[in-house]
Amino acid sequence: MKRMYFLRIAVTVGVFIITAITAVSLVNLTGLVSDIRTSERSKPAWIVSRVEFDLLRFQRALAAYRMGELSEEELSLRFDILWSRLDVATSATTGELLSEFDIDLSPIQRTLDTLKQQEDDILSIGEASPAELDETIATFNALEEPLRDLTLETLEATSQQSQRYRERLLNVAQKSALLTGLLVVVLMLCVVLVGLEARRHRRVSMETFRLLKASRAAAEAKAQFISVVNHELRTPLTSIKGSLGLLRGGAAGELQPDAQRLIEMAYTNSESLSALINDLLEIDRAEAGQLALKRERLDVSELVRDAIEANANYAAKQDITIREGGLERNLLANVDRQRLGQVLANLLSNAVKFSEPHGEVTVTATRSDDAIRIAVRDTGIGIPDDKMQAIFERFHQVDSSAHRKRGGTGLGLSITKAIVEQHGGTLEVTSTLGVGSTFTIVLPFAPTVGVGQSGLAAAA
Ligand code: ADP
Repeated sequence: MKRMYFLRIAVTVGVFIITAITAVSLVNLTGLVSDIRTSERSKPAWIVSRVEFDLLRFQRALAAYRMGELSEEELSLRFDILWSRLDVATSATTGELLSEFDIDLSPIQRTLDTLKQQEDDILSIGEASPAELDETIATFNALEEPLRDLTLETLEATSQQSQRYRERLLNVAQKSALLTGLLVVVLMLCVVLVGLEARRHRRVSMETFRLLKASRAAAEAKAQFISVVNHELRTPLTSIKGSLGLLRGGAAGELQPDAQRLIEMAYTNSESLSALINDLLEIDRAEAGQLALKRERLDVSELVRDAIEANANYAAKQDITIREGGLERNLLANVDRQRLGQVLANLLSNAVKFSEPHGEVTVTATRSDDAIRIAVRDTGIGIPDDKMQAIFERFHQVDSSAHRKRGGTGLGLSITKAIVEQHGGTLEVTSTLGVGSTFTIVLPFAPTVGVGQSGLAAAA
């Protein structure tokens, strides 16, 4: 489970990182492509070479004019073309592109300056003497070499730039291929993960279905068992107990002392058996919260007093005293008289049962705010810390050995707790081994009718 969880996190983080890297690479690639396009479109080397080319054509035109083979207008046209070419070369965009290369651009500026100086001479070239013409030709010839060098330098710089672009492109392409590979791996991992998850899900569903079937079968078996206990055990046991009771009471004539003792023993055992069967039948309904409560608003202290009285005899037989340790008046609660009596009887009989002779059991009933607290405190054997929760489970006994001194089924506290909870209350325990235990029932105080009644109880 944990491994799957970490794997899922790792794959998610992986996908996230790879997607981020891919996005950054794509942005880089787009920038690079746009750089290449710009430089391609402006073609700085081409512009510089065009300047050189048009200077050569103008030089040729000048020579032709000198030979009388070209008209003045045609010469002036060549001059204008050269000028406009220089305008393009010195424009802001081209200038910016050219400035990217580390080359000396002064030949272009020098050519432009020369054109400006020579403009008037060219416009009035018809009046120029052959010597002046030769001088003009020489002036323009002097521009040729620096411009050629500049063309070569620009060509080399642009070719170096292309080389750099190519390398970067290659680099980005390699990275893209790597990322694509990684993405494929991550995707495959995702597919595997989904597959594993689906398999796990199927396994869990099958297991749930199996458990559901098993629990249904167990519920059926339990219902069957309860019905058997009810009909095949309880009914005959009731008649056995009745008959033993009659015999014990002398209904069939006075018995010999030995026979009387045996009948007493049989009667006591049939009573224990009957209590066990009753507990067994009740525990399920109690734990499922399905006990039908006949709730009425009662003063709980009265019930406590009744319970003390009812258990006094049993306690006296064990040489234990049960005493009232303070019972407040008007402890009103919505309770089922008989069920709360059963709860108190169980706590009191436990307190007596787990005390040594001459022990004392004290019962208090108090109220604080909205809670009524009924505490049964004994000076008995106490409960070990690690058993404090377990004793509320079915059949759990601190001493469950076959030779234990005290009898019982281990069901009393489960039923007691369930009944208290069905009243909307809680059952708490504190205990010190060898010193004694205190079981406290906490019930909601109900100053008016209806407060603290559960839906089921209200319906009951
Ligand atoms: P049992 O029929 O054994 O009394 P219960 O469910 O009433 O069953 O109690 C479960 C176990 O809790 C008892 O077996 C005993 O070990 C422990 N226990 C209950 N009440 C006390 C008490 N007052 N003092 C010490 N131990 C107790």
